[in-house]
Amino acid sequence: MNKLILISFLLEMLTFGADIKAQDCATLAPPPPSWIFNPTLQSAQADGQTYLLRIFIHIVRNVNGITNIDVNNALTTIPDYLNSSYSSADIQFQLVGFDYIDSEYYNSIDTREKQDALLSTNFHNNAIDIYVVGTNTNTGGAAGRAASIPATALFLHGGYYYQSSLPHEMGHCLGLWHTHHGTVNEGGSDTHQCKELVDGSNGATCGDYISDTPADPIYGMVVNTMVQL
Ligand SMILES: [Zn+2]
Repeated sequence: MNKLILISFLLEMLTFGADIKAQDCATLAPPPPSWIFNPTLQSAQADGQTYLLRIFIHIVRNVNGITNIDVNNALTTIPDYLNSSYSSADIQFQLVGFDYIDSEYYNSIDTREKQDALLSTNFHNNAIDIYVVGTNTNTGGAAGRAASIPATALFLHGGYYYQSSLPHEMGHCLGLWHTHHGTVNEGGSDTHQCKELVDGSNGATCGDYISDTPADPIYGMVVNTMVQL
């Protein structure tokens, strides 16, 4: 399946009434891959197949194995929520396992250094790793983040695995930038980022690099009409 069309469908799917705030996401934007700017890819069509992605859930607890996360609920809610969120994009998720990470160090994930370390702990080469951390303590109060864009790992604080942060961060894993990307400098290493014009004339090369999502001018505010990927 063509990647550009895949993420185009994802953006279309993710335009339901998500209410995540931009500042709830701590994912930093890397530069886009060069194929995004390849015009020959922009007219490809979806192939109609359903793609099944494997996920593995890690529950982070304190050193005594205690967490305020309802583990049984998380193990059913996360795949169910992802499947309902991505069904219109012909993407489904299969939970292949879970484990516990009992660590005082990771149970309060208050620095990016800790986040990066967690996102490579007990990781899998054949699944997207989802880390659920019990505390809500974090730099900037972020709900979570993906390891990068794209990525095969994301983390969420415990209060967010059943909120729009879950499909949001998964969207980053699957290659989506924020729709407001480039409106203001989001940081990260993407020196290419630029404002998307409301007439859509530069929609494929600025903003989220997806031409069929409208320009999103507001950074740091709740925008109910468009998920803040
Ligand atoms: Zn985000």
